[in-house]
Amino acid sequence: MQFLSTRGQTPVLGFSDAVATGLAPDGGLFLPETLPSFAGQLDRLAGLSYAELCFEFLRHFATDIPADTLRGIVAKSYTKFAHADIAPLVQLDERTYVLELFHGPTLAFKDFALQLLGNLYEHQCRVRKESINVLGATSGDTGSAAIHGLLGKPGTAIFILYPDGRTSPLQERQMACTGANNVFALCVDGTFDDAQAALKDVFGDQAFRTQHRLSAVNSINLARGLAQCVYYLSAWLRLPAAARANVEFVVPTGNFGNVLAGWMLQKMGVPIRGFKVATNQNDILYRLFTSGEYRLGDVAPSLAPSMDIQVASNFERFLYYSVGRDPARVREVMHTFKTTGAYRFENFDRDTFSASRCTDAQIPGIIERVYRQYGYVADPHTACGFQELSPDRVSVVLATASPAKFPETIIRAIGKEPTHPTLEALKARPLVKHPLKAEPAAIKRFIEKHAV
Ligand SMILES: *Cc1c(COP(=O)(O)O)cnc(C)c1O
Repeated sequence: MQFLSTRGQTPVLGFSDAVATGLAPDGGLFLPETLPSFAGQLDRLAGLSYAELCFEFLRHFATDIPADTLRGIVAKSYTKFAHADIAPLVQLDERTYVLELFHGPTLAFKDFALQLLGNLYEHQCRVRKESINVLGATSGDTGSAAIHGLLGKPGTAIFILYPDGRTSPLQERQMACTGANNVFALCVDGTFDDAQAALKDVFGDQAFRTQHRLSAVNSINLARGLAQCVYYLSAWLRLPAAARANVEFVVPTGNFGNVLAGWMLQKMGVPIRGFKVATNQNDILYRLFTSGEYRLGDVAPSLAPSMDIQVASNFERFLYYSVGRDPARVREVMHTFKTTGAYRFENFDRDTFSASRCTDAQIPGIIERVYRQYGYVADPHTACGFQELSPDRVSVVLATASPAKFPETIIRAIGKEPTHPTLEALKARPLVKHPLKAEPAAIKRFIEKHAV
């Protein structure tokens, strides 16, 4: 399988190269040249374990990795999950389910992709006999999930910048208390945007980038989306036959990566009825799916911080399909959006998508209601998914994080403190963080000293 860029000005690449490249050189995002169909295979797939299902799915895409090697990489990627089902489907009532995606090492759904990506990097190091230094900036969940994907892996080092004092204390501990000597948690003075800007500059230095074999962690890597398709498939296969065709997945959404994965799976012949894009108060995507206009707004920090985004970086993949797979149109739309901050869509898949939006003022009330109604504790991101469920569908709400990551909001909502053994254990471990100025020169000096 080959992978093309949404902007059409990059030669197609095989899976491993597309994963290693991340963002296409023409500024576009990689997508499979063709989509396989799973329509005739669903019965056969129904009995597989999660890891086997993931392998059966990925082997259609990762065709440049020998099957046995790929099977091993996939199996290893789901060994650090604390639940036997990996992504358990919990039934709340006749029409309502929760798909729990927080049983990985950092207790949020990003582990599904970043555990796999870590093992793909390790494989790449082995094949190319080269080390790799991974670099990223985070406002919370992505950084810790990336760190836990590479923790202790030979031939790799990971450097994650985060704004000092602006991630939650637990998120900081997940990054800075790992005890691994290939992990560097760099707290910078300034905001996430300052860190991001400095990092962009470091990556802009082509010579430095090549010399240290730098690779970026971000939300647009091809492998992340593909890994995320699998839990939709797993959930769909576990639903009662009568519920399958009427199912709407409700997805707490930020960068559109998660919901895009489900939609791609639908395009691969899995008859999912629809998706609900559930945003917090930062509602660019809610506005798009209700009005047809994609227009930049301001970002206001919220109780569901991993959904606080301004531009949904994965949206360009959806755009590519929406404009009839025409890269020239994609370039035109992205240009219009960049220069005017808005774009009006004539037609997109309206039948498949619905949307909801949830303000900070509403989140604690929803957590309280869901707890009262079902005895279920939803984290603030998942709570946005419960804002309004479609009355005529079977809803599967994706639980994207463990409530234990957000104790303040949960206590406020239901008067009880959620705990989790993984997080409790972190409190006993020493915090090792490296204070740094958010300046390219300081970052480069640090990397030169610690790179592998
Ligand atoms: C990243 C994240 C989201 C948003 O996911 P996208 O793929 O960016 O839409 C939602 N909830 C949690 C807990 C997250 O970490």
